[in-house]
Amino acid sequence: MNMLKRISALILSFITLISLVSCGKEKEPEPEEYYSATFFAMDTEITVKLARRTGETDEDENALFHDEAYLSSVIKECANLVSEYESALSRTKEDSVISEINKETDYFFDLDPEVLALIKESNEISELTAGAFDVTVGTVTELWNVTSDGADVPSDESIEEAVSHVGYEKIETDGATLRKTDRKTKIDLGAIGKGYALGKMIDHLRASDVDYGIVSFGGNVGAFGKKPTTGKFKVAITNALDTSKVIGYVFVDDEFVSVSADYERNFVKDGVVYGHIFDPETGRPAKSDVISVAVLSENSAYADALSTALFVLGTDGIKDLYKALAGTDVAFEAVAQLEDGSVYLTEGLSGDGGFEEYKEPETTAES
Ligand code: ADP
Ligand code: MG
Repeated sequence: MNMLKRISALILSFITLISLVSCGKEKEPEPEEYYSATFFAMDTEITVKLARRTGETDEDENALFHDEAYLSSVIKECANLVSEYESALSRTKEDSVISEINKETDYFFDLDPEVLALIKESNEISELTAGAFDVTVGTVTELWNVTSDGADVPSDESIEEAVSHVGYEKIETDGATLRKTDRKTKIDLGAIGKGYALGKMIDHLRASDVDYGIVSFGGNVGAFGKKPTTGKFKVAITNALDTSKVIGYVFVDDEFVSVSADYERNFVKDGVVYGHIFDPETGRPAKSDVISVAVLSENSAYADALSTALFVLGTDGIKDLYKALAGTDVAFEAVAQLEDGSVYLTEGLSGDGGFEEYKEPETTAES
């Protein structure tokens, strides 16, 4: 038995002991509404909050609750699922499918159908967003490597060279095969992979007899099922100008929210913030009037990809894309925070029940 196993066995027996002690009490308290757990994968902290209610009642009409062991095993399955996607989709894991594609040695790759479908879907989103979202930015993200220690601004020549290998049209899919027309093109699924994995995780939770819950996956949030008490889940949107504050809240059920902004992954040089979202045309950190954008969509991967695209496009682009996609199965709503601190809302969020702006609590002057 290795050390880790021994420690977990110890913790487990401790937990069992606690439950045995609490079983000895006269009256068992009603279980808390949620069971929650946190794990780390895809470079991100993932928090899962699951309703304990089963939706069923016993013969005396008392609500039935899932036990802790069941819900913790469901969350373990979710963690395994995400780690499988991470192994396949990561750009930095050497033995991932994506690393295989990114080696500069080949033009043709036989791929797992799911990975191929995700890349194909990515290219469709690139077409819809006129290339603002483009998973072939790999050479650019690799060059800038913004989250590394000592990240610096690359030379103009190296940026030009990196950009020359960017372009979603350089990737073609046919049957089970992916073809690169440019051997040096690199794929980076950083703007869609987490959203995709989150969507699959929520599918798994629904299929696991959990009535409702919410998962926070870095900048992506997914809510499923209907809360019996207060209806929708309230999701806070961070204020990009002061991340200790929020700009307001959106309300979701059976929906995903994905935020793209520069306040977490960036580096600062000579007072300039260089963010991790790039304009695929210039190969430089994207700069529009939008400093943070939250996208709401029923499709998790789309929410993720679109938030990145909208960050690049800015408000004019958001307006155009909103019109173009309205009524389609990739329709979205968005809350964008602009550089002057103001908030832009798409039409569907403008009315009641859409976006609740955060108001500073009124302070009474002390005399
Ligand atoms: P986060 O990963 O922090 O949640 P995003 O979803 O916006 O943020 O994804 C940003 C990541 O996607 C970057 O770290 C990079 O790997 C990749 N990326 C950067 N710019 C683009 C772009 N224009 N299109 C597609 N992917 C991008
Ligand atoms: Mg994204």
